Amino acid sequence: TPGGGPRIKEEKIVVTVRLRPLSKKEQVVKDQVAWECIDDQTIVYKPPSQERSITPMSHTYDKVFGPSSITETVYEEGVKNVALSALMGINATIFAYGQTSSGKTYTMRGITEKAVNDIYRHILDTPERDFTIRISGLEIYNENVRDLLNLDSGRNLKLLDDPEKGTMVEKLVEERAKDDKHLRNLISVCEAQRQVGETALNDTSSRSHQIIRLTIESSLRDNSGCVRSLVASLNLVDLAGSERASQTNTDGARLREGCHINLSLMTLTTVIRKLSVGKRSGHIPYRDSKLTRILQHSLGGNARTAIICTLSPALSHVEQSRNTLSFATRAK
Ligand code: ADP
Ligand code: MG
Repeated sequence: TPGGGPRIKEEKIVVTVRLRPLSKKEQVVKDQVAWECIDDQTIVYKPPSQERSITPMSHTYDKVFGPSSITETVYEEGVKNVALSALMGINATIFAYGQTSSGKTYTMRGITEKAVNDIYRHILDTPERDFTIRISGLEIYNENVRDLLNLDSGRNLKLLDDPEKGTMVEKLVEERAKDDKHLRNLISVCEAQRQVGETALNDTSSRSHQIIRLTIESSLRDNSGCVRSLVASLNLVDLAGSERASQTNTDGARLREGCHINLSLMTLTTVIRKLSVGKRSGHIPYRDSKLTRILQHSLGGNARTAIICTLSPALSHVEQSRNTLSFATRAK
């Protein structure tokens, strides 16, 4: 864009939906597709047996991406503006919300990759500014915080309140990325650490949240020799499975045993709902969970948020898909 900087849309919370294709497994058991994206903002429930006379209920969002959409499109059309705002000194959070196996990790890995590309492209295009990029990675499991770049620090890092910086994670490693290759390496270290946990503890990934935080600082020496700097974080968040967001299904049945509710996820949904209502919503309970404390300065206020709600198309998952869409609707 003219003027050098990326163009930023005004919206504070962008809500998108990504419907993945039917998986091999689902095809093998002859599960069927129950959802269709009818344009780039609308998704409808359309089970195979639906009678023609019934008009399907449609749901609209800022963008919806169908099963043939690639992650690049999700990035470009859904979240790029939010990601790039961190280059302009505005804190940003991008997260994927959806039931286990709906495509959160698949989507966030791709989005992270595209965001890193874009950040370094912007750095090349902006030689007048000096940039520093730092990365930290953490996992929240059972309200315990673990450093993904330093496993020796234990599984339960403390949160500290810093009057200026807000909530900090004690002893969390922040590595300065020398270049884009180094940054990609550090990101894959975080991803690998989470996977290690996954095999050891069976299904940690459905219960844990992963945050990759890129802190982008840039400075510019103006004509009078003054240095002007900008600093902001981009938080890339792969959430626990949304089946842990509430105690009851929409039909009121209790979730199956062992499917404990997740305090951080439940608090995040409350925070997002209150933020979307705006000024009249009253107290926002950031302090009720580790996830929302850590993200407080990157949600609400001047911060920008992009939510990608991931959906399985399968008929057998309709109940969870409805829950996800109802979260998406309330976030808007
Ligand atoms: P989650 O993190 O929500 O539990 P995953 O990202 O692990 O789900 O996705 C579950 C499976 O579906 C993985 O094998 C993944 O590769 C595949 N998958 C997810 N989204 C897509 C997509 N949009 N296109 C193709 N395959 C996908
Ligand atoms: Mg996952």
